[in-house]
Amino acid sequence: MTSVLWFRRDLRVNDNPALLAAVASARSGSDDRVAPVFVVDPVLWEASGPVRRAYLADSLRSLDHELGGNLLVRHGDPAQIIPRIARAADADSVHVAADFGPYGHRRDSTVEAGLGTIPLIRTGSAYAVPPGRVRKSDGTAYRVFTPFSRAWRHHGWRAPAGPAPADATWWMPLPDEGIPDVPDVAGLVLPPAGERAAWERWEQFCSTSLTAYADTRNRPDLVGTSALSHHLKFGEIHPRSLLAALPPSGMDAGADVFASELCWREFYADVLALRPDTARESLDPRFDEAMRWADDSGSDRRFDAWCAGRTGFPFVDAGMRQLRAEGWMHNRVRMVTASFLVKDLHLPWQRGASEFMRWLRDGDLASNAHGWQWTAGCGTDAAPFHRVFNPVRQGTTFDPAGDYVRRYVPELRHLAGPGVHEPWLSTEGGVHGYPPRIVDHAVERLTALDDFAAIRRTT
Ligand code: FAD
Repeated sequence: MTSVLWFRRDLRVNDNPALLAAVASARSGSDDRVAPVFVVDPVLWEASGPVRRAYLADSLRSLDHELGGNLLVRHGDPAQIIPRIARAADADSVHVAADFGPYGHRRDSTVEAGLGTIPLIRTGSAYAVPPGRVRKSDGTAYRVFTPFSRAWRHHGWRAPAGPAPADATWWMPLPDEGIPDVPDVAGLVLPPAGERAAWERWEQFCSTSLTAYADTRNRPDLVGTSALSHHLKFGEIHPRSLLAALPPSGMDAGADVFASELCWREFYADVLALRPDTARESLDPRFDEAMRWADDSGSDRRFDAWCAGRTGFPFVDAGMRQLRAEGWMHNRVRMVTASFLVKDLHLPWQRGASEFMRWLRDGDLASNAHGWQWTAGCGTDAAPFHRVFNPVRQGTTFDPAGDYVRRYVPELRHLAGPGVHEPWLSTEGGVHGYPPRIVDHAVERLTALDDFAAIRRTT
């Protein structure tokens, strides 16, 4: 038999249940060949932005290498391409990992219809526990993280699936159209892509930072987090593999907090699968209906200053510049920059979320849309109406010596110590062109609290 293995967000050969299912299905007959395929879908490719395109191209090269140069890359609409490949291969089945995202879910139904009698077999997903499984005893979904995470741990997950069989026969039934050439993005430095790089990063994190993770994960000036999010996004490593490698719950505080962070990713995927509209709209509809957003003549200029890292608030600016330099931003700084856009500049979270999706190498619809909504106060935060991050206090607390700011904001490198977080207090603060503050945080905080109070009164 022949099977087609269609890779999407699972660019790895180990712990890949769909791959094992494709091999097993091919082995049940005489041909015993698997056609591994990746479709460069213009809808996703265009939406990805230059950073994720560049990373994906690297990741595909790495996967092709693992498959002995047999990854068939075709360009176009999967609804036409996958049935064409399946017919050219005379395939008995097409194998995928289930996709729970709004677009992926629709796309797979269309492809399934186009395949006719050839079954599209979904095995596994990008999550330890697939969206839709963790439910309250009455069958309804959780809207708040803590009870979800308790139920998620209680539900548990399967052990990792094995490696790809060494004797699997990979085969290309049609000519390869090639991995697209992606121009370099000026000034951007991306980390190595692929499954091997993911495992190396994980091993390094375990040996250097996991035990201290509970204390250091909020410190952008240190290498205290795993930096695995882009590997997880493209499925170069599966969260189940990471969870299986952690000590049992209760044995290591760092490992417990790390598992809980992986759970946030699963929680947001669950929320989005149930409410696909929340990719663009607020979970709390009052936000889109009644919030007083800034629409004065200066709001576009302030948005541009935020994007460019020129707000005059060093911790915010360092984050936005890290985003453009590395296609990544530390989680603490994502929260502070997002809060600043919504609560200091009074701009809708959707504008900031789009800017993040344009640059993030780990850009993930569920984590991004709901990370933004949590921070904005219209999402899954249990107490959303009082949290307004103070950009200076966040800086002095989580970047206590100012090293993070100095790394990304060269105009402030001459300021020593934590004073870098308040350059306006120094006569030397602006001498190298660092801009003055574009707003007064104390005033904007009160405006934000007023706006929230008004929203709360609406039903
Ligand atoms: P670690 O601290 O090492 O955490 C391990 C893994 O757990 C991460 O790789 C990630 O998969 C998951 N994780 C950790 N924190 C979160 C979280 N708060 N929400 C969801 N998953 C989490 N994460 C993305 O992967 N893609 C996004 O597009 C994205 N956008 C975000 C936007 C905003 C406004 C905010 C506040 C958070 C966003 N996050 C996003 C979550 C988080 O910032 C990143 O996952 C994390 O910074 C990645 O770094 P790391 O791999 O070193 O994380």
